Amino acid sequence: MKQQTLTLLKALSEVNGVPGYEARVAKVVEEHLAGIGRIERDNLGNIICTKGDSGPKVMLAGHMDEIGFIVKHITDKGFVKFHNLGGWLDQVVLSQRVVIETAKGPVEGIIGAKPPHLTSADERGKMVTLAKMFIDVGAKDRKQAQDQFGIQPGDPIVVPMPFTPLKNRKLLMGKGWDDRVGVALMVDALKAFAGRKHPNVLVGVGTVQEEVGLRGAQTAAQTVSPDVALILETAIAGDVPDVDENGNPGLGTGAAIYVFEGSAIPNTRLRDLAIETAKKHKIKHEVAFLAAGGTDAGRIHVHARGVPCLVLGVPTRHIHTPAGILHADDYDATLRLVVELIKLLDAKTVAGLTKP
Ligand SMILES: [Zn+2]
Repeated sequence: MKQQTLTLLKALSEVNGVPGYEARVAKVVEEHLAGIGRIERDNLGNIICTKGDSGPKVMLAGHMDEIGFIVKHITDKGFVKFHNLGGWLDQVVLSQRVVIETAKGPVEGIIGAKPPHLTSADERGKMVTLAKMFIDVGAKDRKQAQDQFGIQPGDPIVVPMPFTPLKNRKLLMGKGWDDRVGVALMVDALKAFAGRKHPNVLVGVGTVQEEVGLRGAQTAAQTVSPDVALILETAIAGDVPDVDENGNPGLGTGAAIYVFEGSAIPNTRLRDLAIETAKKHKIKHEVAFLAAGGTDAGRIHVHARGVPCLVLGVPTRHIHTPAGILHADDYDATLRLVVELIKLLDAKTVAGLTKP
């Protein structure tokens, strides 16, 4: 993996941006795409970078938001009650260290948990639900939490995690890989064509609010009106205990090509083109099958008269938890596949995707 990609992945992993609060992520994207194409934002906050003037519009979409929480209210005693943004398993949330991003700056806290000494045998076997949880920021009461610390209902909350290459240096641990890894692929794919010709208009999009229902993808599709779209994502790595590796390719298996996901069935010609291209260029790949859950393709493929879509992903362990792990070689393989596909998506090939 190139050093500049590592730098990009670290920056994108560590920047905070829960759904509806992606502005800082967009800033990182903008910095890394400076000089590559024309940059604009739509009214929902999607960042759009367009490169090239003629040919079919090829949209590359990665969502900028990460799962997190939002402040609901503060109790009289100064504890912060919160709501989830995106899908968390309640048991993963308990006792995490969090940062509340207030207008007055970050406030650190911990999601409180009852000590084992006070937990009854009955309680131990049960999951503590999110509704019962609270954040302890060390405030003496609501007034101090609000007036002095600056915490207000509606403030975003993240679970911080430093970007960490593990002992096996190719395994990269960090937060928000879903879907900052897709955002990084979008940026790197555009950069791969800096100063080079491509037979299409490339439109890289960092979308917003995917984790709360693919909302940014909807306005992005309307703003861009693509002829074809590649949705760049994670794929659930199945090479951990208790998970089925069938349909969930593990780390080191290369680019994941989605043949199915819960919100969109891929354009089969585009899917086959990706598989053939990977074989032709000896790019490591596997198919992914996600029975439940969706991606931005869910909104993009049903835009206007329909848009041929395909989801490509980097296998990632532990998504929708505070830290995921991915393999640098899988990232590189996915990037190569995206770049090779872009070279092929000329007017004739794109028209052929939807011919009867
Ligand atoms: Zn997700």
